[in-house]
Amino acid sequence: MSFFPDEMPRPEPDRDDQGFWEACAQRRLCFQACGACGALRHPPRPICYRCHSVETKWVEAPSPAVVYTFCVVHHPNHPAVASRVPYVVGVVEFPSLPGVRLVTNITDIAHSAVRIGMPVSIWWDDIGGGMFVPRFRPAAPSDA
Ligand SMILES: [Zn+2]
Repeated sequence: MSFFPDEMPRPEPDRDDQGFWEACAQRRLCFQACGACGALRHPPRPICYRCHSVETKWVEAPSPAVVYTFCVVHHPNHPAVASRVPYVVGVVEFPSLPGVRLVTNITDIAHSAVRIGMPVSIWWDDIGGGMFVPRFRPAAPSDA
């Protein structure tokens, strides 16, 4: 069973983020990097913000991540999430991958217990159709 009900709209990969979602389908979290200068960027874009190259490569994210910021959603902005509120939307970052952050959900913890800077580990939410969405839960001490 996925984190959100089946009525939740699914990601629709496009030319720029197709590689991101292909890696997710293999349960690998990868960020786009410039193939020329190595600058990391997310969400994926066609051109490097630093050197304007169109060459790209994919870099696998390390684990664990840390919570950069978060909010608790109480109002369902889409009917599909009405049964799921309140839930936590978090932004996570990876200390060894400066420049990229990921908007995700922080799960398996009371929303009042989520803290900025807390280590979190990825888990893969099977949303069907061969797609997996990266979400995060508090890291076990052995993950650090
Ligand atoms: Zn570049």
